[in-house]
Amino acid sequence: MKVAKFGGSSVADANQFRKVKNIIESDPQRQVVVVSAAGKSEAEPVKVTDMLIKLEKALKAGTDFQRLFDHVSDRILKIRNDLKLDVNIEADLAVIKANLNNCSHDYLVSRGEFLTGKLMAAYLNFKFVDPKDVMIFKGDEFDYQASSQRLARIYAENDHLLVPGFYGADVSGNIHLMPRGGSDISGSILASLLDADLYENWTDVSGILMADPRIVDHSKKIDVLTYDELQELSYMGVPGRSRSTCS
Ligand code: ASP
Repeated sequence: MKVAKFGGSSVADANQFRKVKNIIESDPQRQVVVVSAAGKSEAEPVKVTDMLIKLEKALKAGTDFQRLFDHVSDRILKIRNDLKLDVNIEADLAVIKANLNNCSHDYLVSRGEFLTGKLMAAYLNFKFVDPKDVMIFKGDEFDYQASSQRLARIYAENDHLLVPGFYGADVSGNIHLMPRGGSDISGSILASLLDADLYENWTDVSGILMADPRIVDHSKKIDVLTYDELQELSYMGVPGRSRSTCS
C-alpha cells in the first residue's frame, strides 16, 4: 500500500484534480491520499490557506471579511461545479461561516485542507477522514498511540482513504494546526502509522529541472539523477530550488 500526498498547487483547480485522479488510478496501491489546501494557480495567485489567514485578520479588524469569505467559497464551489461533483459543500461552507465569529485560529486556517479534502474524496470516491478524528495531539506532542488506534479502526473498515493534511485535534476535538507546509508531515506520519510500503510526495512539475522554470524559460529536464546527487543538491542548496514530481 502507498500513501500519496499532493501539495497545494497540485489541487489548485479542477484541471489539477483531474491529474491527481489519473495518478491515483494508474496504481491501485495508492490507497491513502493526503491533500493540502488548494494553492496558487494561474487564475488564483493566492493560496486558500493565505486567504484564510487574511480573512482572520479582517475579522479581527472588523473590516470586509465577507468579500474574503466569498472568494474562498467561490474557489471551492468552482472546483466542485467544474468537476460536476455531487457534494453539498455549501453545507460545510455554511458551518464555517456560522463559526467565524467564535472559532480558533487553528480551526479557521485548517478549513482549506478540510474543504479541498472533501472535494477530492468525492472525486476519487475515497472515504473522507477528518484528521481531527485520527491525528491526535496531546498539547504540542503528536500522540502516536491514540492516532494509530483510531486510524486502524477506520482503515479496517475501508482501505481507500482521503485524509487532509496540516491539522489534527486534541482528544476533545479542538483543532491543532501544524506548521506551514505541514501536510508533508501529515503524509509521512500517516504512512508510518499505516506501515505503508511507500510514501509518495507529489508536486506539479514533471521531473527535476536544471533551473527554476519560474525564472528560466525552457529549462531542461535532468533525465537521470541518483538519490545521492539529489541529496547533495538539497543539502548544498541550488540557485532557484528545483522541484520534482515525486520525491
Ligand atoms: N496549506 C498549508 C500551507 O499553505 C499546509 C501545506 O500546504 O502543507 O502551508
